[in-house]
Amino acid sequence: MPELPEVHTVLEGLQSALEGRQISALHSYYPGTVSYDPALDYEPFPARVIAGIRRGKYMILNLDNATSLIIHLRMTGKLIYEAQPNEVHKHERARFELDNGAAIRFFDLRTFGKIILLKSENLQNYLPKLGAEPLSPDFTAQYLLQKLKGRKAPIKNLLLDQSIVAGLGNIYVCELLYRARIRPETAGDKITLQQAKEMVKHTVDVLNEAILVGGTSVSDYRRIDDKTGEFQHFLRVYHKEICPLGHEVKRIRQGGRSSFFCPLCQK
Ligand SMILES: [Zn+2]
Repeated sequence: MPELPEVHTVLEGLQSALEGRQISALHSYYPGTVSYDPALDYEPFPARVIAGIRRGKYMILNLDNATSLIIHLRMTGKLIYEAQPNEVHKHERARFELDNGAAIRFFDLRTFGKIILLKSENLQNYLPKLGAEPLSPDFTAQYLLQKLKGRKAPIKNLLLDQSIVAGLGNIYVCELLYRARIRPETAGDKITLQQAKEMVKHTVDVLNEAILVGGTSVSDYRRIDDKTGEFQHFLRVYHKEICPLGHEVKRIRQGGRSSFFCPLCQK
């Protein structure tokens, strides 16, 4: 599932593909993929993108006519740019047509991905409550400790909670906990100030390292040119048998998802 570095990479690709171009149309090929704000009582296209913003795992494109697009890739969504677009594919759920004949195609095997077209003034109504952006100055050890106060749930599950930290998913939470040397089962309220500092530092590091190489491709995720990211080559525990120090990596189920950790490196 695309997480912050993957969404960041796709958004950058999207912005460069749309630079100087107009979106002439949005076609929908699957019920429920594209939805419209009822307040949108005008034809939104053609329009130009004036800003692209990432919030958590959401991409927000602001158009030049007070309209916005929210794109959420969810599990298997991918946006692929094609200068000379092919015929509609069976897993293609929507398509942006550009004024130069190119297209940005939205493929989504599992169909959980969403594209919402709305009046920009209504943006907040269409986004869930999201916690601090991990790459912003708001994400500090103090912020994290305050959010973890009184929480008995495992730290792994709490870091996946988008209302605490926005944009983290299974891959980067496993990786940052390994780097911070913290067991994924540790109760939220048992995290010390020192551990919170370690988590913040390693969250920022692992996300920035992944962004530098275009994200992690372990399943469907692709960049806008249909190439894979490269961070899967730098993972330390996620889907690994052995940690970088040669210890056996353990896999447990938490909140319906697999957690990978090293019982010797993580306390
Ligand atoms: Zn180890």
